[in-house]
Amino acid sequence: MKSILIVEDELSISRVLKAYLEKAEYTVEQAFDGDEALEKFAAMNPSLVLLDVMLPGQSGWSILNRIREQSACPVIMLTALGHIDHKLAGLNQGADDYITKPFNADEVVARVKAVLRRSGQVLETDGTKYFGSLRVDFKAHTVTLHGIELNFNPRDLSLLLFLAQKPNQMFTREQLIENVWGMDYEGSDRAVDLAITRIRRILQNWPVSEGEIRTYRGMGYKFCVYE
Ligand code: CA
Repeated sequence: MKSILIVEDELSISRVLKAYLEKAEYTVEQAFDGDEALEKFAAMNPSLVLLDVMLPGQSGWSILNRIREQSACPVIMLTALGHIDHKLAGLNQGADDYITKPFNADEVVARVKAVLRRSGQVLETDGTKYFGSLRVDFKAHTVTLHGIELNFNPRDLSLLLFLAQKPNQMFTREQLIENVWGMDYEGSDRAVDLAITRIRRILQNWPVSEGEIRTYRGMGYKFCVYE
């Protein structure tokens, strides 16, 4: 059974979300501030986190950062209506989706299902994901294929880990540079193409039937995997 952690200080909202998610057969835990959120996150290792931005004490963003330091667990941010910047900030900081308030609880359940489906690969409790015969360890920063560890240069490895953390999502070259190598990176977009070429060469024995890094001409790249 999939488990959801709701981090929301408004009791009435938290209660409604809990009721709807339980009706959809998820196990639900609630946290009402940041400290409680991180405690419960560590204790329950949820399948997904619904995270409100406006919380007493530390904000949803800092909690998201803390979660991302230790886990690729899907996170959906709950933000106030009209705070469109929040959407961009959230997606850049590694949120998987965002929902603006006020929301309809049925919509939240649908989004939870969609995000879980998208990141549906088995995420082991030790921070590894399997994509067929490819195993990515997000904690140890290692990638093995058919049990053999692959060697990437550190910059290419961080790019691959980022893409593998967000399977089936397309990223532009600019987004990849910004998210993976940092805003102060001074190389060109071409560096992404070259890195992808090197990564593909190393992954050449990964069966296409299990997944691939796909090019979207003029747009970007996607780590495509099949469920
Ligand atoms: Ca709130």
